[in-house]
Amino acid sequence: MTVISYNPADPADLVVEVRAPGAFGTAAAVERARAAQPGWLAAGAAARSAALGRAADAVEAHADELAALTVREVGKPIAEARGEVARTAAILRYYAQAPYAPTGAVHEPAAGPGLLLTRRRPHGVAGLITPWNFPLAIPVWKAAPALATGNTVVLKPAPEATACALRLAELLDLPADVLTVLPGGAEEGGALVSAADVVSFTGSTATGAAVIAAATARGIPVQAEMGGLNAALVLPDADIEQAAAHLAAAIAGYAGQKCTATSKVIAVGEAYQPLREALAKALSALSAADPALPGTACGPVISQAALDRLAGAVGSARAAGATVLAGGERPDREGWFIEPTLLAEVPPEHPLLAEEFFGPVAVLLAAADLDEAIALANSTRHTLATSVHTRSLDTALAVADRLDAGMIRVNAPSSGVDFHLPFGGAKAASYGAREQGQAALDFYTAGRTVSLLPAGDLR
Ligand code: NAD
Repeated sequence: MTVISYNPADPADLVVEVRAPGAFGTAAAVERARAAQPGWLAAGAAARSAALGRAADAVEAHADELAALTVREVGKPIAEARGEVARTAAILRYYAQAPYAPTGAVHEPAAGPGLLLTRRRPHGVAGLITPWNFPLAIPVWKAAPALATGNTVVLKPAPEATACALRLAELLDLPADVLTVLPGGAEEGGALVSAADVVSFTGSTATGAAVIAAATARGIPVQAEMGGLNAALVLPDADIEQAAAHLAAAIAGYAGQKCTATSKVIAVGEAYQPLREALAKALSALSAADPALPGTACGPVISQAALDRLAGAVGSARAAGATVLAGGERPDREGWFIEPTLLAEVPPEHPLLAEEFFGPVAVLLAAADLDEAIALANSTRHTLATSVHTRSLDTALAVADRLDAGMIRVNAPSSGVDFHLPFGGAKAASYGAREQGQAALDFYTAGRTVSLLPAGDLR
């Protein structure tokens, strides 16, 4: 099979065309990685730390090139692409410290002499399956903790982000078979889950369910970060202008193609009317534009199929009586663009309120009070990140406890979280351990308990 990716802003621009290795090639790559793993672990903490530090240097030294490739291959606006490159380097530097961190503890025996030790060891080969929307940061936030703890890595990037992953691997320049990038699709992804010792997946809910089923059937550790249908709650005491600006960024930024993007805006009581006006104005000001231009917030969506699905959803909502408060149309330009769109009066049973559409389209809802707002926010299975907009700290803390979301952001866009904090959702949005920070170091290692007793008479 051949893997091809195109420029979403200019579909005539073919970014890369490479052969995929197929299932046998994938299994062979995992075997090579398995053979390389003991040497990578034995190289020691200093060697692994230095390799990750050099990788961070290389990413920084090629920041402009990587940002331009991210714009071209996945249509990410240049300002966000630069931010992703900087984050990628920061993640590598953060995990470059991890090889020196303690890997266990010493305990007192319940009785008698001896030492009881706990120690965490790597699983072996980490199989990483990634989406296209963060083509540098997601591969690295999985690979860096896996490598730091002494695993080797086989990464299967999304076909749409193949060129970014191949260039990243070249720049990281790790020893042979320590980090392998395998271009491919479902065949290679499935083969990787069948052969790896630990699996980390990020992508859509349907694919995630298949990956979880296959990995758990093999009895190997697996984590999956999947789709989100994220809400924002705006309370009557919020700064409405500030909330509208944050919401517009969370709806339209990178054309709504972040798993943490906002797609359901819930205005409580008297917040509704002023928010309706302010958000419609803020979104109308962010028209879909060339992602290479410095001022662009909303670029194209990833494919013609994604565009058709979004346009179809907006069309069917309109036909069902929805009001278009902003956008709703395709701009008159080449590429897979749709204007940032805000809909109101959407019928409760419409798919826009149940499924992730992964585009710059949001629905505005009214809630009579906080209880109704929380019920509306929690009414989906895909609760990844929720934002809350209020001036009251008491309300913010109380709401944070009652929301199902894995990540709650107060007076901020739902999208975005620091790279050293646990990352993940609730209910169907996530499976298994959290990503990032210490949680990732724990996920890529298994604990063991060692009891050391005297070999003979101590006297
Ligand atoms: P996708 O599910 O189509 O693909 C994800 C990856 O899985 C790709 O590498 C793909 O080739 C691979 N794959 C496909 N079929 C497979 C199979 N049968 N077995 C193993 N691997 C298989 O998702 P996508 O379109 O690349 O990414 C967009 C999705 O990712 C959205 O749903 C978004 O919400 C989600 N996402 C979630 C997070 C998060 O942290 N929760 C972050 C970013 C993106």
